[in-house]
Amino acid sequence: MSLINRLDTRSGDFRSRLQTLLAFEASEDASIERVVADILLDVRTRGDGAVLEYTRRFDRVQAGSVAELDIPRADWVAALDALPRDQRAALEAAAERIRLYHERQRSETWTYTEADGTVLGQKITPLDRVGLYVPGGKAAYPSSLLMNAIPAKVAGVPEVVMVTPTPDGVRNPMVLAAAAIAGVDRAIAIGGAQAVGALAYGTPSIAPVDKIVGPGNAYVAAAKRRVFGVVGIDMIAGPSEILVICDGRTPADWIAMDLFSQAEHDELAQAILLCPDAAYLDAVEAAMARLLPTMPREAILRTSLANRGALILVRDLTEACAIANDIAPEHLEISTEDPERWADQIRHAGAIFMGRHSSESIGDYCAGPNHVLPTSRTARFSSPLGVYDFQKRSSLIKVSGAGAQTLGRIAATLAYGEGLQAHARSAEYRLEADPAAQGKP
Ligand code: NAD
Repeated sequence: MSLINRLDTRSGDFRSRLQTLLAFEASEDASIERVVADILLDVRTRGDGAVLEYTRRFDRVQAGSVAELDIPRADWVAALDALPRDQRAALEAAAERIRLYHERQRSETWTYTEADGTVLGQKITPLDRVGLYVPGGKAAYPSSLLMNAIPAKVAGVPEVVMVTPTPDGVRNPMVLAAAAIAGVDRAIAIGGAQAVGALAYGTPSIAPVDKIVGPGNAYVAAAKRRVFGVVGIDMIAGPSEILVICDGRTPADWIAMDLFSQAEHDELAQAILLCPDAAYLDAVEAAMARLLPTMPREAILRTSLANRGALILVRDLTEACAIANDIAPEHLEISTEDPERWADQIRHAGAIFMGRHSSESIGDYCAGPNHVLPTSRTARFSSPLGVYDFQKRSSLIKVSGAGAQTLGRIAATLAYGEGLQAHARSAEYRLEADPAAQGKP
């Protein structure tokens, strides 16, 4: 099997081969669905008792009450204090940059007044309570915690409750330190579908939240899908993707490693390079072959590159941009001279990295923008996680006495047209003289 697929936009089978590579069915494993449905029902009916039982079963943590699973704030602070200096500095620098970037996303309430005194507007309110899932089964992701918690805090969410499983009672110090830095309000050592259920439905010791965000394994994703509607959720992320457009003048090793940086996530991850220079594609393939044996995740890389990766020869960079728009990738790198020129042609991408120095990995950790991005072509209609995901909008309507005359007539006419008598008459009542002027309430 070749290391990575090679495609050429000039060949007749290009479109069908590209479609095959892009096809990804979010698998809904029936057995996982059943298990998760049972766990959620159990948590909904038995509350804390069910949460404790599943935590014993799946994470091998014995606790007599949920209070025992609360991770005291003193422990987060201790974890932060005990962190090696370079790690603490890196976490704090990343958090500060994420905060500064997201502060620009905050929406404000606005109103405007019409000539007759009618005031209209939009009121912005942060969500009351947000649940943040931080995966902890096999690996820990403090960067995910920062990317999810900081926008919530910037939005003004007063209560961010973090849940994270601690298999065998082992707590990840970097996750706890990140919780302290991000300003999380409560941390509970529970995970999986039982944690999602507890956050969504509430239990005697865990108040229900309004929205659950954060990544997790198949059980967590299935549980989030099921509780959607009772609570909001951020998104169900598919496998990671990177698409690189290169003019053939960036060091081949850099691009090879950028492709690896997504392909190493898992076997279904997707890494694609578009370039108009065939010799450069050969150079990147040679660099990959040379670098692969040096990678600890070589086996995952080989599978994802062979199954879903591609080096694609394009006619020119304009064609590369058109293909990028079709693919609507989660991450797009434009590794060319004058990257703004090509970025202008991009309409669909979760994040656009411009220029040879903008590696996607810097965006993953610390550039500032969010790393929670739309996958599986959903960048056609959705956006990165942001402050706006933690703010709600309420419409404001304050009709003046004069406004009631004109608007009341329009509303009544439309309401009679729809056959809705009460609507029409409610508007017509206000066509009468101003009640305040007549001394009525
Ligand atoms: P996790 O916290 O998501 O899941 C662990 C929990 O799964 C356990 O506590 C348990 O409750 C539950 N579970 C495990 N086996 C079960 C079973 N047989 N029946 C019922 N429940 C069971 O941690 P993880 O497993 O390490 O997974 C982390 C996931 O998060 C990975 O899939 C990773 O790719 C993903 N992730 C994605 C992103 C992203 O941005 N897309 C970022 C970080 C992590």
